[in-house]
Amino acid sequence: MTRDTVFAAELPWHEYQSMVQDGATPVLIPLGSMEQHGHHMPMHVDVLLPTEFARRVAARISALVAPPFTYGYKSHQKSGGGNFFPGTTSLDGASLVNALRDVIREFARHGVRHLCIVNGHFENSWFITEAIDLALRELRWDGNERVKVVVLSYWDFVDDASVERLYPDGFLGWDIEHGGVLETSLMLRLHPDLVWLQDAVEHAPASFPPYDVYPPKPEWTPASGTLSSPMEATAEKGDILLDVCTRGIVNALLTEFTTQRKLAAAT
Ligand code: ZN
Ligand code: MN
Repeated sequence: MTRDTVFAAELPWHEYQSMVQDGATPVLIPLGSMEQHGHHMPMHVDVLLPTEFARRVAARISALVAPPFTYGYKSHQKSGGGNFFPGTTSLDGASLVNALRDVIREFARHGVRHLCIVNGHFENSWFITEAIDLALRELRWDGNERVKVVVLSYWDFVDDASVERLYPDGFLGWDIEHGGVLETSLMLRLHPDLVWLQDAVEHAPASFPPYDVYPPKPEWTPASGTLSSPMEATAEKGDILLDVCTRGIVNALLTEFTTQRKLAAAT
């Protein structure tokens, strides 16, 4: 490729075609949400972060990054504060499933054989799984059995050693990290102009009963919208996260995509 971009939509179509038509170039699709992230960050954190991980990974494995999904599934109270916040703007599950299924099928039509969904919003998870299943089923009906999709959420690549460095006072779990140290540290490193730490609200970690109620009870969620305090976030912690997650995702994709390429060459 001659152009200095990994973003597929920044290419003219014929150059894109030459990269993907034989299945050689993986395509990474970031998936986010428009969701409140407390008083100290904007509402597209879940889009910015997976898009940046995808950009870094794509540069290392010669992949392309598709335009991100900027809306996601509804915010769940125990992992995103709840869908009742003004600003949080979500898709029904079926809408997300259908849109992602369509996009996977379109990339397959272009020739893409290796896809990776880079998720940045926890609540998307099972709808991604369903979209992939439906897309692969449809492709099989057309006789296309060669498409492989890897799905991952970037925070799952944070290892125990990094957790100890990020949370020296103890780790409370990814589910209440919404707007907390993880996302705020990454944003401080990548988009410091979009973090207003002076507006952050310090509060005790959210604690929920072991059941859900619908309609949800807003009083269960800390009023600021975050589920744990971002006060311990630093740009240096952002570097730790960028390093461990990027390395982990690169290794995963080299494993999954290279193996398939070798198998394809051998048969
Ligand atoms: Zn988030
Ligand atoms: Mn989210």
